[in-house]
Amino acid sequence: SSRLSIINDINAALKDVDKIVIVMSGKGGVGKTLVSCSLAIGLNMKGYSVAILDADIHGPSVPWMLGIANELLRAEGDRILPIEINDIGVVSFDLLLDVKEMPIVWRGPLKTRALLEILSKTLWGRRDYLIIDMPPGTGDEPLTIIQWLRDRISGAILVITPGMLVKHIVSKAKSFLYNTNVKYLGTVVNMAYFKCPVCGSIHRIFGTVDIDSKEIIAEIPIDPDLAKYIENGKIIEYLKQENETSKKLLMISTYV
Ligand code: ADP
Repeated sequence: SSRLSIINDINAALKDVDKIVIVMSGKGGVGKTLVSCSLAIGLNMKGYSVAILDADIHGPSVPWMLGIANELLRAEGDRILPIEINDIGVVSFDLLLDVKEMPIVWRGPLKTRALLEILSKTLWGRRDYLIIDMPPGTGDEPLTIIQWLRDRISGAILVITPGMLVKHIVSKAKSFLYNTNVKYLGTVVNMAYFKCPVCGSIHRIFGTVDIDSKEIIAEIPIDPDLAKYIENGKIIEYLKQENETSKKLLMISTYV
């Protein structure tokens, strides 16, 4: 019965959310948060109403990237209000903590439970899209989140970087999605190459990716300028400039 009540609470909280898209990766640090934020901003620029749930409880970085790391979520009664930045609603573990320096050391099941509670207690409002920045990998945490949201998820984007075991990571993620009955929308290859700013030649520093090119949504270069903007919490400003990398990042939103 408690399971049923959580499902009811989640469904009630998400009743005015049209589509839920999850962003996954085989491991941490590959650019999953970059893709989640770019997707949200790209959809927002097209006029859709969007929210992001930062479900990467190990190292929540959505607030950081969006430049709201110093804010805290507010409550309305026992409900949580997303922080609105540029009309994008953001909810993250990080924004709940009073002491930011204190890392979350709760064990898996407790963390996932807390996350589901946040999900069900948030006043999401009317949104065309909810983007979920998932915990990395295909282990228990993403599995639990997907199981609770099961029929609500409209698709999943996978983020990888070139290198060893890519084929293995992609096929593992795809079978994970197949088994959980979530539609695989394709893969973003981040840090795919470096383009020499002087001569324009392309260097595939981490190697090539040997997956079916039809699956590849975008190839994002290693871009020191982008890294600088991210570091300063200015991903929105970065994506509003028109350059090769920003265009590729914004194009991801055409796949959802
Ligand atoms: P994840 O969410 O998978 O852990 P992030 O999106 O937080 O990964 O990115 C990890 C780090 O890598 C960030 O600090 C970001 O600045 C850097 N980064 C990601 N993609 C690029 C890129 N294409 N070019 C330069 N730096 C990048």
